[in-house]
Order: sequence, then C-alpha cells, then structure tokens
Amino acid sequence: MSTIAFVTIPMHGHVNPALPVVAELVRRGHTVTCHTSPAFAPAVEATGARVLRYAGGDRPPPDPPTPLTMLDGLARTTADLLPTVLSDLREIGPDLIVHGAACPWGAVAARELGVPAAALFTTFAFNRRVPSPTHASWALLASAAARSRAARSYLRSRWGLRHRYDTRGLPLLDLANVGEPLNLVFTSRAFQPGAASFDGSYRFVGPSLGARPAEPSFDRLRAPVLYASLGTVFDGGARLLRTFAAALAPLGGAVVVSTGATDPAALGGLPDNVLARRSVPQLEVLADAALFVTHGGMNSVNEALYAGVPMLVVPQGADQPTVARRVVELGAGLSIRTGDATVEAVRDLARRLLGEPRFRAAAATLRLAQREAGGHLRAADELEHHLRRLGRLGRRAAADAPGER
Ligand code: UDP
Repeated sequence: MSTIAFVTIPMHGHVNPALPVVAELVRRGHTVTCHTSPAFAPAVEATGARVLRYAGGDRPPPDPPTPLTMLDGLARTTADLLPTVLSDLREIGPDLIVHGAACPWGAVAARELGVPAAALFTTFAFNRRVPSPTHASWALLASAAARSRAARSYLRSRWGLRHRYDTRGLPLLDLANVGEPLNLVFTSRAFQPGAASFDGSYRFVGPSLGARPAEPSFDRLRAPVLYASLGTVFDGGARLLRTFAAALAPLGGAVVVSTGATDPAALGGLPDNVLARRSVPQLEVLADAALFVTHGGMNSVNEALYAGVPMLVVPQGADQPTVARRVVELGAGLSIRTGDATVEAVRDLARRLLGEPRFRAAAATLRLAQREAGGHLRAADELEHHLRRLGRLGRRAAADAPGER
C-alpha cells in the first residue's frame, strides 16, 4: 500500500474528475488524503479519503475571471496556503503528491518535501502548439498594463514564493499549467487537439465519472430532453438562461436548465415543459439528452461526449473558446457567441443539431473514444504504475502496467 496525497483546486470542475480516482485508490487499499475547501469536504469524505481543509475556508473565484486575475489569484493562494499544506504533508509523509495542473501549491510542496508528483489536467493538455488560456501572450501583457494592480500583486507573490520555497519547475507565468513526470489528462486523445505533440508523460485517460455527491433526481423526463447549463463558475445571467429556455421549449419534450450562480426565480415565468434548478444531476440528464447547450466547460463537454450528445457551445471565457472550436472542428456541435445568442438564433442552431444526423454521428464517434480511454480506473492504474516505477508502491502488486492508448 502507498500513501497518496491529493491537492486539489476547490472548484466543481477540478474536484469532480478527481473524486472517482480518489475513491478507486481507497478501494484498492491505499491511504489517500485530499486537501480541499470546506464546501467539498463532504464529497471527499464520502470517498473514504482523509480530508484536509485549506486554511481560510472557501475562496470566491477571481472577479472578473480573466487570465491575469486567475494567475494573480493562483500566486496569492499558493503563498497563503503553502505553510499549512506543507505542515500537513510533512505529518502525512506521502509516497506521491497528486496535484491539479492549476494547483501550484501542490507542485511547490512536492519540491520542498522531495516527494515525487503527478499532475491532473481537467482541461486540455497545453503546449506551444496548443497554448493555454493563461500562457504568455500580447493579450496578457495588454491586460497587465490595463490592470497594473493585479500585475503588481502577481509579481509580489511570485517574488515571495521564490524567496521562501523551492519553485523549480514552476512556469515563469503560466501557473495554471504545471506539469510533472506523469500528467493525467481527463479527456481522450481523439478530443485533445494536437495529441501527437505531447510526450509520453501525458496520459489521456478520458472523462473520470462517478463518485459524485448525490443530487435529487428528476422524475422521468419527456423526450426529447434538451439541457442547458453555463456551469458553476461563470455567471451568464438570467437573460441568457431565459433565452435558452425560450429557444428550446418548442423543440423539446422536457427542457432542463441548470442556473448555477443565478436564482431560478430570476428567469421569471417559463414555459410548462422547462425545469430550472440551480444544480441538476448532470450525468443523469446527459444520459437522456438529445442536445446540450453548454458554456463549453471542459468537464461538461467531456461528459456530453461520453454520453454522445451533440452540443451548442456558448463560451463564456477561460479555455471555453478553445473547447468550442474543438467541438465544432470534430463535427460534434456548433458554437455561437453570447452576443449573438438571440432566441431565434439559438432555436435555429438547436433545430439543425437535432435534425441533421451528422452531429449525432460525430458525437457517437467521440463517445466511443471517451469510453475507450479508460476513465478513473485507468487513472488509478497509471498512478500505481508510476509509484511502482518509483519503487514506492509498497508491498501490494499493482495492476499490470497500462500502455498508452
Ligand atoms: N455540474 C453538475 N450539475 C449542474 C451543473 C454542473 O453536476 O447543474 C457539474 C458538471 O457535471 C461538471 C462540473 O459541474 O462536472 C462543471 O465543470 P465544467 O468544467 O463543465 O465547468 P465550470 O463549472 O468549471 O465552468
């Protein structure tokens, strides 16, 4: 048995794919700890892992969530969290630290403690050919000039980190893209752009589904089920969500709208076949859905492709424009800018997605690739294989070494 310490970004999109891997490693007999915020503690506890709460409680996402404010937020959070995370990890003495690629405090803790690490990529893997939304660019420079306070704050935190800790291996700028000798990417090679340009340290394990906190189910939904969500971070506002509801209602048996940050009441009176809730059991809804209107969050898109559901992507920021382009490029959906998303335009595109079989066919091809990638079981195999290579697997024999798929 080994001791494996997960260090996560406490956001749904980062925690959701990690949970099934954590649960599987616990099931295989490893001692697993998981750093997270109080909001996610019950979900982590349910996996059987030991929960370690970040000092300072839950933090709101950077507002506005631009690449610069995200980088500044990551640098500051790293400086704030490292003292307690390090003292926790010293006590635990892990054989391996598994951190989110956007979780630099996990990477620095591993260097400081001399413990090997692996990274989890909940969006695409990024490199020169597939640039991350937070890579060094003219746009980022321009935004630093316009928001000099955030830029100064970032530089101050980075300087402090460099001064106090071993920050070798941390990218100069792109703190949301911290790789390790093993990088688990929660999508398939088929969906990853430029998959051949990544070396063998990147393992495309596909969507990691399961082990989620239970959401109240819906009674049987009338087909065709049309689903709309802008995820859990970006607040698209009541108007956009109402537009989706009004556009889809005449085309659907049931229309499900996950309103996230928006109060469902703010959508006003809705057609009878529209169900609006702050949060819905997304995997369950997607299993029955004929169409998904999504912001293009990577988890949502991975999950939709796992279910073979064509998408209308309405990107709100971050990596979502890149994800939207990939969906369109592979023929599994269409995309529209928020500013162009009128009731008529959304209905027109939805009608095409429902009526033209090529979209469902492309989504079905990706469905197969997403399933064949192996998911959380493959991720657990890869981590055990990595531990074995490092001579840190303990007495128990791991599953046979998996090959790259
Ligand atoms: N989600 C859910 N119910 C909802 C809305 C979202 O379970 O009503 C889950 C969804 O399945 C996904 C995650 O929340 O796993 C959202 O992650 P994503 O990367 O798609 O978007 P983000 O919220 O990070 O922008």
